[in-house]
Amino acid sequence: MKEKTIPYKIYLEENEMPTQWYNVRADMKNKPAPLLNPGTLEPMTAQELSGVFCDELVKQELDDVNAYIDIPEEIRDFYKMYRPSPLVRAYCLEKKLQTPAKIYYKFEGNNTSGSHKLNSAIAQAYYAKEQGLKGVTTETGAGQWGTALSMACSYFDLDCKVFMVKVSYEQKPFRREVMRTYGASVTPSPSTSTQVGKRILEAHPGTTGSLGCAISEAVEVAVGSEGYKYVLGSVLSQVLLHQSIIGLETKAALDKYGIEPDIIIGCAGGGSNLGGLIAPFMGEVLKGEKKYRFIAVEPSSCPSLTRGKFAYDFCDTGMVCPLAKMYTLGSGFMPSANHAGGLRYHGMSSVISQLYDDGLIEATSVEQTAVFEAAEQFARIEGILPAPESAHAIRVAIDEALKCKETGEEKTIVFGLTGTGYFDMVAYEKFHDGVMTDYIPTDADLQPGFDAIPNIPEK
Ligand SMILES: *Cc1c(COP(=O)(O)O)cnc(C)c1O
Repeated sequence: MKEKTIPYKIYLEENEMPTQWYNVRADMKNKPAPLLNPGTLEPMTAQELSGVFCDELVKQELDDVNAYIDIPEEIRDFYKMYRPSPLVRAYCLEKKLQTPAKIYYKFEGNNTSGSHKLNSAIAQAYYAKEQGLKGVTTETGAGQWGTALSMACSYFDLDCKVFMVKVSYEQKPFRREVMRTYGASVTPSPSTSTQVGKRILEAHPGTTGSLGCAISEAVEVAVGSEGYKYVLGSVLSQVLLHQSIIGLETKAALDKYGIEPDIIIGCAGGGSNLGGLIAPFMGEVLKGEKKYRFIAVEPSSCPSLTRGKFAYDFCDTGMVCPLAKMYTLGSGFMPSANHAGGLRYHGMSSVISQLYDDGLIEATSVEQTAVFEAAEQFARIEGILPAPESAHAIRVAIDEALKCKETGEEKTIVFGLTGTGYFDMVAYEKFHDGVMTDYIPTDADLQPGFDAIPNIPEK
């Protein structure tokens, strides 16, 4: 077969965009364990979940049998504002590294929120609107999710209340202003406006917050306000479902040119972009059709997959949310304050956790100075200034490409470039000033988090 010339950017046509999300759980032999009610330790029913989440999203959360779920037309219309996103052949990077590897990245940063999070934000806002709600509450860490959700809510004319992890609120005032531009209200977390916030502040005076705290606050407000539900930007299976648009587009673009990846790499915070990127490829592996290496990359300072325990744990610090079986550092784990934004969550999506436990995904952790070296190198060579989260995947993609240089192998590497880093310049500044340090928790540092994991007997 004559090889087609592969362009620098592969763009799908609008009419080639997926019309259904792919639900990888349908093809998993070992299904992710169900969410448990923290009171009864029984699987959460749809009715219980609908106290917190929108009905249609509850249905998606509990669905581990239907492989394909239609994307409503209103959501597809919104997707067209910024999708399909390009699959880029990193010719410049390959040349600079002098590697025989072929490197591709799926670029999800081409929207105002600056990340892939808009893919799920618009879906969650749509279902909230459909249900006739007034608004939604949520948490945000580095700010991308809050920004994405505020954009989605303003599109559907919904109120949006965001609890923003205090350290980011202070480091990223402009993130907050973008959210307010789209009509959201933003509260630094922990705050004194909720019971759980007050409790956390009493126990940890001066804390700079964590995603786990902010989740507890947002849930409390949703449950206590008429016409409001809570939405979450990662971790949940429904979010991975929505993010499958990333992988489906990637696969469609690769198929157009007959390209078969060897290695697929994604950064892993709560697991949503990774889960979305790998979904259709994992589906082929699960059906025994193909073999790929999947690599999850996490920071050494928050190593839930590589050093965490696979156990039922709380999803939030206030222990108000259902229990999820996942790789976790314990819901009390607070990543070191020197850690530069993103990927700070103590746990990992149940889907990714199960696939990892089944040996279908590899995981590796990287230190933040090495991540920023890769980020800067990438910015200079490929032009895009990456989010620090995304740069975790870049680091490992470069390392794999350099291994190919040594062995002479022409592997095809695909990684997820989840977003841009314009709001992360404080972290870049620390890196440039040489004051960024690597912090790797010792086993003793991790122990208190592990001790707080509840002891739930396996059924
Ligand atoms: C939120 C975020 C991540 C990590 O979240 P996942 O749910 O693990 O995908 C990665 N990259 C960017 C740019 C983000 O905003």
